[in-house]
Amino acid sequence: MPLVTSKEMLQAARAGKFAVGAFNANNMEQVQGIVDAAVEERAPVILQVSQGAIRYAGLDFATAMVKTAAALADVPVVLHLDHGTDFDQNVLCLRAGFTSLMFDGHAKPYEENIATTAAVARIAHICGIPVEAELGQVLQSGVSAEEVQNAMTNPDQAADFVARTGCDSLAVAIGSVHAMTSAQASLDMTRLKAIAAVVDIPLVLHGSSGVKEESEVEAIQYGIAKINVATMLNQAFMDALRQAVAADTKASDPRKFLTKSRDAVKETVRHKMRIFGSSGTVTASGFISPATQHRSADLGHIE
Ligand SMILES: [Zn+2]
Repeated sequence: MPLVTSKEMLQAARAGKFAVGAFNANNMEQVQGIVDAAVEERAPVILQVSQGAIRYAGLDFATAMVKTAAALADVPVVLHLDHGTDFDQNVLCLRAGFTSLMFDGHAKPYEENIATTAAVARIAHICGIPVEAELGQVLQSGVSAEEVQNAMTNPDQAADFVARTGCDSLAVAIGSVHAMTSAQASLDMTRLKAIAAVVDIPLVLHGSSGVKEESEVEAIQYGIAKINVATMLNQAFMDALRQAVAADTKASDPRKFLTKSRDAVKETVRHKMRIFGSSGTVTASGFISPATQHRSADLGHIE
């Protein structure tokens, strides 16, 4: 089916207490692995491209790959801009056909973050496209616990920020950190509950590769409706690639190796969709049903 926007998808997720996985993709094998898992799991899915992915693949290639994968799938697929750095980047992605945007204004003063987020939301909404915003900051790995604490989203600002920007979903900083290679971060559930009490739009968790799966499941109960997964997918891709190359150092056909990476991405995505409760939420006609009986969360590890 054609790409869909993330608006109704994420609203259904918050209402139904599940989360839609937002998976970062940089190449064709990753796009295919993610969408194949979504089709098999009957799960809605968000494919997101970062600034790095746009620099690597080029905006036109990134857009075309995800559009093609969506057209071949019978579950809803969203093409989302992850951490759009400025107003111009968001406009370019809107023009390219993205069906979900993000403006990340964490580095700007509060009032400037509001002004630019509101400007992005205004033009995106004219085209029927929703916008994710960020309040507080999800930092990069290597920071101290004190720095993470100081960058957390202020619940007292959250309602004001959402009302004045018109954003459709809100990325919150509640203890997770980007690019962690093991699950060591603990989430501030009290803070999340305080934010969810004053903000009724879907909330977004970044940096999930560093978060325990039990904490993800708990956070979903308190309003997290979109969970971003990147580092874990890259690890799965590269681990499979290294193993395949080590097992056969002579073969020259890259397909022999990249098939293993694509399968590893697919199984990692499948596992996360089951944890997030999004598996089985797409009906035969392609609609997302929060009332669908979810599979129980499978906390087992991937083989
Ligand atoms: Zn992020």
